[in-house]
Amino acid sequence: MPHSLVTGGAGFIGSHLCEALLACGDRVTAFDDLSTGRSENLADSVQDDRFRFVRGTVTDSDALAPLVAEADRVFHLASAVGVRLIIDQPVRTIESIVEGTQRVLDLAAQSGKPTLITSSSEVYGKGSQAPFNENDDVVLGPTSKRRWAYACGKMLDEFLALAHHRESGLPVVCVRLFNTVGPRQTGRYGMVLPRFIEQARDGKPITVFGDGEQSRCFCHVADAVGALVKLIDTPASFGRVVNIGSDEEVTITQLAERVRDLAGKSSSIEHVPYDQAYVEGFEDMRRRVPDLSLACELIGYQPTHTLDAIIRALIEAPSSSPPAA
Ligand code: UDP
Repeated sequence: MPHSLVTGGAGFIGSHLCEALLACGDRVTAFDDLSTGRSENLADSVQDDRFRFVRGTVTDSDALAPLVAEADRVFHLASAVGVRLIIDQPVRTIESIVEGTQRVLDLAAQSGKPTLITSSSEVYGKGSQAPFNENDDVVLGPTSKRRWAYACGKMLDEFLALAHHRESGLPVVCVRLFNTVGPRQTGRYGMVLPRFIEQARDGKPITVFGDGEQSRCFCHVADAVGALVKLIDTPASFGRVVNIGSDEEVTITQLAERVRDLAGKSSSIEHVPYDQAYVEGFEDMRRRVPDLSLACELIGYQPTHTLDAIIRALIEAPSSSPPAA
């Protein structure tokens, strides 16, 4: 029975990954400092005696080393999450992204364990030529705009992972996750869909930032974690960067309207300028659509959940998230 280590295992995506791995028959160790992860996310996994939770931070090599040593493969998901956290806590964000991944890769490289590093579609920065392909050039904003630190940190993670692959042959794959949604995601760190659903449920105005013409594609977390499990088991993916997400594009205003209509509520849609929503001079990404051809080629990946089905299921689910900040 293979043993998987999941850093960030108590987070939204990490906890779904733990459940998927248990369902595949793995033993699973989830490692998380519970800074943005929540032990409640693991309520189902802890019932399984093949599951273990260890509290700790990925920058602590002493805590991490024995866990990497005993694992057969490593999924590194621990990271600061969400644009709001990057704006509010830039030092912690940069350090956790760069230092955490460095430690995980160093330890994995000592024993050559198959490793998956989660990166982000933020890496595509200001690119407007959608869909985004893994080999596209990247344009980021200036260092004075805190948002771009996240993209830059994740790019450094990718460079480092690919460097380990080249120098020691570490079997590592980097996954650029696009907007991922589903049960247990909280609006607390600014993510748009849980915020809109909560606002509609409470009959409050739905807050669309900027002109609402910016677009995103929302992927169900079950599709995303299924892809992570397949990628780490696919040797052809090692040394590669792979997009995972949905390619059903929607503007944020359309998203607000769909949430309102599917919730059967009459919430108003309120446009909030970026300066008020985030900080003075905030820069957003206008479009974010993945080219999924590499994922399809490697693992036959196709997202299976439509946006309407996702929204409906989330509206019907009991509200488990703490109130949006
Ligand atoms: N957004 C919004 N209202 C909110 C939260 C977010 O209009 O209450 C917008 C945000 O400005 C961005 C999009 O929704 O254009 C997606 O935001 P999120 O933070 O979920 O993800 P990301 O910006 O990383 O794609």
